[in-house]
Amino acid sequence: MRTRSLRMSLPQVGEFNLIQSLRRRYGQTGRAVLCGIGDDAAMVRASSAHALLITTDLVAEGIHFNLHTATFADIGYKAAVANLSDIAAMGGTPQYLLASVAVPRSCTASNIDDLYGGLMRACRPHGVELVGGDTSESKDGLFVSVTVTGCVEPGRALRRDGAKVGDLVYVTGTLGDSLAGLRILTRKGRRQRRTRGREGANPRYVKSLVDRHLHPTPRLQTGLLLAHDRLATAAIDISDGLSGDLAHVCRESGVGAEIEAAAVPLSDACRAYAVASGVDPIDWALRGGEDYELLFTVPPRNCSKLGRVSQRSTCRITRIGTIRPRAFGLRLRRQSGRVTQLADSSYQHFRAARTTPREAAWSS
Ligand code: ADP
Ligand code: MG
Repeated sequence: MRTRSLRMSLPQVGEFNLIQSLRRRYGQTGRAVLCGIGDDAAMVRASSAHALLITTDLVAEGIHFNLHTATFADIGYKAAVANLSDIAAMGGTPQYLLASVAVPRSCTASNIDDLYGGLMRACRPHGVELVGGDTSESKDGLFVSVTVTGCVEPGRALRRDGAKVGDLVYVTGTLGDSLAGLRILTRKGRRQRRTRGREGANPRYVKSLVDRHLHPTPRLQTGLLLAHDRLATAAIDISDGLSGDLAHVCRESGVGAEIEAAAVPLSDACRAYAVASGVDPIDWALRGGEDYELLFTVPPRNCSKLGRVSQRSTCRITRIGTIRPRAFGLRLRRQSGRVTQLADSSYQHFRAARTTPREAAWSS
């Protein structure tokens, strides 16, 4: 983005270009910074053997959440997970958390206590301790900003910029569940109203999708396994959607990629709810953010070792595609064999998107 672009409106520029512009203009760093703007977390050399990881995420009422569909505890939980997931994507161990809140007067002290209860519920299983934050009054809506620090051995860290042509592309867990869960919570549009009866027929599916939206799992154990055995050449967590997050890895690594639609892992619940809604579940998997699964690339020589990691991992690991040369671009091979450009359909702040802010909630 050149100076002329600085006069453009934010919807014209879009979130990603804005960040790239800030990175180019202000993101120069010294030698201690091993990884600055552009990865899931910053990485700063702390000693010869260790690096400090630092990541932060801000969530805003009306953009990332609303108080009709999430409790204060849900909001706190997910704000913590967004950060823990970034540490997972770096192959690190999370350690400390700072939480800042800007709170409207309409909230009670008990609401904020519940929010912190949710934050700590996400943190405790990983031994992450709250060490600070900030508190302000807000004139309009609740804002929660969370920062998490962690540590990693620099030589084992997973970065976005290491994918090589020929590497295989993998994801953890299943994709699209969070967006399906959000659709259930908001039940917006005629399609959702039409499927309400069928949702009712599958309360187990409905519950599991809503739970995946409100309480995602940071894939810390899998990130650590990948880093420990130096199996992956690149990694990112899926917070914006598979299409957008894969594009980030490809841009940082200077490569292209081909994804097999038939291989993209979908839960039975997501598949059933999408079919009942008249939607191709693959579309939800491609553009739905907030699944907080890991996407990573592995050279073919490491595939047998990955099989062993997969057995020890608490979540499933699925191969979904291959890294191609940059000129190949990003392509999707549909089940029919038809190959199309894989457009970035993920949510971007400011951008006129197919999704409303509420539908795209939480993808920061
Ligand atoms: P993630 O989805 O992994 O949380 P983001 O898309 O929020 O990542 O950010 C991508 C990269 O840009 C990260 O390295 C982040 O630190 C950086 N970044 C995002 N917003 C800003 C900002 N306003 N100023 C500086 N760096 C930013
Ligand atoms: Mg991330």
